[in-house]
Amino acid sequence: MRKKIAAANWKMNLTWQSAGDLMNAILKTDHNLKDNQLAIFAVPFPYLRAMHEKVLGKAHTFIAAQNCASTNNGAYTGEVSAEILKSVGIQYVILGHSERREYQAESNQLLTEKVNRCFEHGLIPIFCCGEPLSIRESNNQNNFVEIQLKESLFHLSKEQAAQIIIAYEPIWAIGTGKTATSAQAEEMHAHIRSVLTEKFGLDVANEIPVLYGGSVKGSNAAELFSKPNVDGGLVGGASLNADEFNLIIKSLP
Ligand code: PEP
Repeated sequence: MRKKIAAANWKMNLTWQSAGDLMNAILKTDHNLKDNQLAIFAVPFPYLRAMHEKVLGKAHTFIAAQNCASTNNGAYTGEVSAEILKSVGIQYVILGHSERREYQAESNQLLTEKVNRCFEHGLIPIFCCGEPLSIRESNNQNNFVEIQLKESLFHLSKEQAAQIIIAYEPIWAIGTGKTATSAQAEEMHAHIRSVLTEKFGLDVANEIPVLYGGSVKGSNAAELFSKPNVDGGLVGGASLNADEFNLIIKSLP
């Protein structure tokens, strides 16, 4: 059964103290997650191990990294490898967030390497895709996202593809307060699923959660998640507020 996921992306926010306070406030809420529902928190690197330990007793709740290196261990000062992440208990890694594509010039080809490092070390990528405003305005978003998926994921085996999580995040909706309508999200998610079906077959495509990201809030999550191909959300700003994120978790179908 396809997983439904509320994923928090804390980005480069929160001190150690405020991160602990936020996590405690969220964890003390009983989310009553069903077997196919997950809450995932992508936290800054220095907090990974401690946050992992904090969520260990909490059902269906996991910690993710926000990035990993494209290479294996070695002389790469400042990088963090998939193997290092795995060794501290991490299971999920956000890859290809639009902020990294823009500020760190991450290409589809580089992301192929990162995806490969994840699979080599037993990590599940939360692979981000999504178009800028200019592409949406010229109605080329389907093709743009299709190329991102093809160039970074189409080398995977069916077994690997069945494990991946995809996050569709239209760049014009990230941190702007401008959310895609649930109809726009559903249209793109259905397209993503058809692209995945063509390559990996219907059984695999039906297993892959496709999350929506872009100004998800407590007030719009239920409507977005009500669409058949929207399997939850990747949430930036609203994940920094315990009440908001609790509401988003509770909105999972
Ligand atoms: C994100 O950065 O992944 C994101 C979706 O941010 P926001 O929810 O703030 O738009």
